[in-house]
Amino acid sequence: MRICVLASGSKGNATYVEGGGVRLLIDAGISCRDLEKRLAAVGESPDGLDGILITHEHIDHVRGLARFVDRHGTPVFANEGTAAVVERQCRLEGKSPPPDFTLFESRVPFALGGLTVTPVRTSHDTAEPVAYTLDDGAARLGYFTDLGFVSGEVAAALAACDALVLESNHDLTMLRESGRPFALISRIAGDSGHLSNDQACEAIARCASPNLRALVLAHLSEECNQPAVARACMARALKARGLAPALAVAEQSVPLPFLEV
Ligand SMILES: [Zn+2]
Ligand SMILES: [Zn+2]
Repeated sequence: MRICVLASGSKGNATYVEGGGVRLLIDAGISCRDLEKRLAAVGESPDGLDGILITHEHIDHVRGLARFVDRHGTPVFANEGTAAVVERQCRLEGKSPPPDFTLFESRVPFALGGLTVTPVRTSHDTAEPVAYTLDDGAARLGYFTDLGFVSGEVAAALAACDALVLESNHDLTMLRESGRPFALISRIAGDSGHLSNDQACEAIARCASPNLRALVLAHLSEECNQPAVARACMARALKARGLAPALAVAEQSVPLPFLEV
């Protein structure tokens, strides 16, 4: 599998994955124009994609979806709860919603070409949020962002992955001292918000597979985190567990180099 995080953070998320004979995106949370630009920058065409997997309906995951699908005819995969809200949001914004969603059920694996896609339920403040694992028979990638907390279901899925894109959203002290309204701080730090650096480290310390080969820290807050802080925290957790995967921190404004697993 080849994986490229095109954009990651509270301003927009999208990841390109190629494997099992298919090319797809997970989320389309930057504008259509930016998606096209970033795909071009990493040498990929926006045409002929086999699907876009949607995690949930927050704008930072679907911002460019309607226009991208309109221009490139990409099939969209989502569960019923997410699809219904995305359709409603598109209509409210005067956009034509994706013409048809391929609906799946959370927790039920499905085939997309030679990939087995498993939607993993997460705890996040949307209709029916999911993370994903994608398996091509040789390696398994986990895409885990907007987690709220690491549930038993997420922990079990994460433990079986050879490569991970994992949320490391905020440093709790920076969040608490950010001057943001208390309600917002509580939402972000709460069980249906986002994982802190410490929570991400704890998840790795507790559950990571001994076969973990690559780890990308993702969905970092620009105001309440710093890449060097998140990376140092995770490096300690990996060392304590005796793991040495390739470690990267995803960025908001530029794609990461391709990972191969
Ligand atoms: Zn979200
Ligand atoms: Zn998000």
